[in-house]
Amino acid sequence: MKTIDDLAVGGRHVLVRADLNVPLDGGRIVDDGRIRASLPTLAALTARNAKVIVCAHLGRPGGRPDPRYSLAPVAARLGELLGHRVKLAADVVGPSAHHAIAALRPGGLVMLENLRFNDGETSTDDMERGFFADRLVAPVDLYVADGFGAMHRKHASVYDVPRRLPSAAGYLVQAEVTALSRLTGDIRRPYVVVLGGAKITDKLGVIGSLITAADRILVGGAMAFPFLAAQGFKVGTSLLEESQVDIAAGYLDQAARAGTEIVLPSDVIVAAEPAADTPHQVVAADAIPADRMGLDIGPESARLFAASIVGANTVFWNGPMGVFELSAYADGSRAVAQALAGSNAFTVVGGGDTGAAIRALGYSDSAFGHVSTGGGASLEFIQGRTLPGLAALEEP
Ligand code: ADP
Ligand code: MG
Repeated sequence: MKTIDDLAVGGRHVLVRADLNVPLDGGRIVDDGRIRASLPTLAALTARNAKVIVCAHLGRPGGRPDPRYSLAPVAARLGELLGHRVKLAADVVGPSAHHAIAALRPGGLVMLENLRFNDGETSTDDMERGFFADRLVAPVDLYVADGFGAMHRKHASVYDVPRRLPSAAGYLVQAEVTALSRLTGDIRRPYVVVLGGAKITDKLGVIGSLITAADRILVGGAMAFPFLAAQGFKVGTSLLEESQVDIAAGYLDQAARAGTEIVLPSDVIVAAEPAADTPHQVVAADAIPADRMGLDIGPESARLFAASIVGANTVFWNGPMGVFELSAYADGSRAVAQALAGSNAFTVVGGGDTGAAIRALGYSDSAFGHVSTGGGASLEFIQGRTLPGLAALEEP
């Protein structure tokens, strides 16, 4: 893969697509992992006297400017981490951006506003997306792909821009591809996958394709409920869509035929609602009361999951085991984090919230083999799918 080390960047306008889509609480950044992960590339480019233009998205503003989704807090934090103020243009391809780009000096850096303030960025219409890409590339010379977490999207800044400019991967993308490649092809076995989180519809299909790749799949978080329901258990008011139950039942059959073990929670922590001050209790997985929702795997399951990780040579974990944002429901994720950190296996943690969870639980990224900044992107990659952003980089 061509990287920034192969580009002559000095004095040139370099557009860097970063993934700075950090979790926000109002205007406060809850976890700055993705900003930190972007630093090596940005620092290298400015040190080599490039004129750096950073573009990124934040949330889903719906194709028009919305101050709630401004990258202002991100620009401020990036400035703190780089040790100098970072100017944020007020638009993406408008007069403010053009003025800021024209004013750049070698070694300087400017950030554009949220890419998704323009509907061309995420449009499914090739012409509309291409038109926006043309406007993005007009004032720049080179493109650097470093937003790994967005590379599974066929978006203008990810897919159409690199097809219009000399391009290379940044250090983050290079590190992600190197690490995640160890989870495709020749995998050191046993290979254990831990899946959780709340994006059930998005992720359920991953289990289908991992049944052939993995030796054992542990399912926690809200992901567990379709499987518990498929076994005929009532799941109360837990997150669940009826259509997911048959899909889960199909995977259980498929796994049994393939000899892949699917490990489900045997107990669950339940409460009336996901709130800090609501009383909670541990119940067996087949005894969830009708008016309670499962918010974490229970203590017996936490021990079972940890024990199921011992002896693995490769572990991939995506999705928290519970609503870890509330301390009452963080123990399941803590048990999995601890099992991975204490393991000799090659361990990969992927997912925006999962990365935030391990850091919130006090683990440093260095306790794991690799902490991916990508949620959807890492899941697509380990299933062997082609990411549009990587494919576009490979084109001449
Ligand atoms: P990632 O960003 O790591 O890919 P997801 O976005 O799929 O993970 O899911 C993260 C969210 O899942 C967290 O905010 C967490 O609170 C939530 N979650 C985990 N377990 C449950 C559960 N049992 N019920 C509801 N939400 C859950
Ligand atoms: Mg998430």
